[in-house]
Amino acid sequence: MDDLAFGSRNKRGDWTPDESASTAPLFMFPPRPLALLKWIPSYFLLFNLLFAASAYLWWAYLLPDLSRFQDFELIVVLQLYLLNTFALMLFYGFFEIRLYVMQVQGQRFKFNVRCPSDNKSDVFWFKSQIIDNVLRTLLIAMPLWTFIQYVILSFYAHQVPSLPTLIDHPIYFAALALIVPVIHETHFYLIHRGLHWGPFYRLFHSVHHNSVNPSPFSLLSMHPVEVFLYLGVAFLHVIIPSHPLLALYQLHYAGFRCNTGPYRI
Ligand SMILES: [Zn+2]
Repeated sequence: MDDLAFGSRNKRGDWTPDESASTAPLFMFPPRPLALLKWIPSYFLLFNLLFAASAYLWWAYLLPDLSRFQDFELIVVLQLYLLNTFALMLFYGFFEIRLYVMQVQGQRFKFNVRCPSDNKSDVFWFKSQIIDNVLRTLLIAMPLWTFIQYVILSFYAHQVPSLPTLIDHPIYFAALALIVPVIHETHFYLIHRGLHWGPFYRLFHSVHHNSVNPSPFSLLSMHPVEVFLYLGVAFLHVIIPSHPLLALYQLHYAGFRCNTGPYRI
């Protein structure tokens, strides 16, 4: 696919799309029903559906039984950390290796023509963006992800006798599942706006924006406060009536959305 059919390249080789980012029809006012109908398939495909499926896989097959979360067991916490980290390394690694190691797409559709590995800078641990991003993900983001997941599952483990089933309230849970991405976007918009306020930016958010030429591992390369705020969106599912499966979906939706950019499979 020729990227010049969709944008242009400057003298340095950086690519810019012809069309600027537009607002999704769901958020347009006054509503545009036809545009909304046309847009609906892209709401589900591909990643929304993939994260819903991964949450189901975790809930139905991969997580320890909910009863194991009633009393603290270190082995359960370790299991969660290893499961989350293995899956994340596999998923992020797939895009990282294809795009930045094998460079299967070359420089096509690349906003910044340089490779992230060329960005040697003192702002990164070991002066390397990729080492910094991977270490921050493994040492800061994944423990916090695991902590949030553990707290939510412990909460539900103590609700077991009265845990609502998906079948008892199909319409409510289906509607809640449908708006998980909307909840994510709204929450992300609000915390992102807040984190761009001068003092918060300097204290917390600048860590994330050190990666000015982001690769997949840049998504969770954040200050711990930002990781907690960002993945903490899943706590909504212990505040409103919900189900562990939907809490996992909310968490996966936030955590697995690596910066793949305009990746062409
Ligand atoms: Zn920002």
